[in-house]
Amino acid sequence: MAKKTIQANEIRELVLDAIGEIFCTAHPETRQLLENALAREKDEIARDMLETILGNHEIAQRESLPLCQDTGLLVVFAELGNGVLIEGGSLRDIIGSAAAEAWDKYYLRDSIAWDPLRRGTNQKGTTLPLILHLEQIPGDELILHFALKGGGSENCSFLKMMLPGAGMRGVEEFVIQSVVESGGRPCPPVMVGVGIGGNFEECAILAKKALMLPSEQKDEELREMEERILDEINKRGKGVMGFAGSTTALKVCILAKPCHIASLPVAVNIDCHAHRVTSRRINVSRETSDDSGATR
Ligand code: SF4
Repeated sequence: MAKKTIQANEIRELVLDAIGEIFCTAHPETRQLLENALAREKDEIARDMLETILGNHEIAQRESLPLCQDTGLLVVFAELGNGVLIEGGSLRDIIGSAAAEAWDKYYLRDSIAWDPLRRGTNQKGTTLPLILHLEQIPGDELILHFALKGGGSENCSFLKMMLPGAGMRGVEEFVIQSVVESGGRPCPPVMVGVGIGGNFEECAILAKKALMLPSEQKDEELREMEERILDEINKRGKGVMGFAGSTTALKVCILAKPCHIASLPVAVNIDCHAHRVTSRRINVSRETSDDSGATR
């Protein structure tokens, strides 16, 4: 099968474009959910805070200013077609150097501790450390899902290796408690990603993936579970920014995978109301080499 190539520069431009969109713009669905929350809200303090949050979103987008001073850590889920070759470097290096360029171009805050234990040793590099999850898919395209993930909400992440006997009810209670006990720390109203199943590391990745690319295809039971959890978080939670009102969470997204019969891994990953996520896709149009790598 003939392979097609994607040049490093095409990926670089796409990364600059994606970061250029989300540093100043929340996901459109999040904005809509915030507006819905404001329309429902009766508490005056909560209404005031929601109006301020929405006003901040508007100014950031209009003036191309960062949505929050914490411009986050770059997280990328990449889906690479098995008919595609990347030319000009590894995907990590290409995205990392484009991200460093974007950080300079858009004046984003340096939020990376290069040495997690000995702070104050930050380097100004030509590439930016990022979290990259790479998966191979059939076909000849590259799909990249981006998030700028704030530290405050990321700190409110939880993982529990539950026993299978905990069942659906046990899982729901763990998720609800995780969000409610986080209080104002993740800057609510929040988006809640939940990973169920897999193993220790996979359920954490599922929770992050659920936040960034919620699946449209979901069984009815999981959908109902999302609604029950959302409802209960908003009944028990302390509301906007952990102070007041009836909206602590805007949405709950669950992804589930098969797991060992002796385990029930569950992970919760929270994102704040800034929820800066977007996706980009490159369709390959040129055939350049065959399976042996010979250039045509
Ligand atoms: S949690 Fe979100 S809104 Fe709060 S400081 Fe971090 S990035 Fe900003």
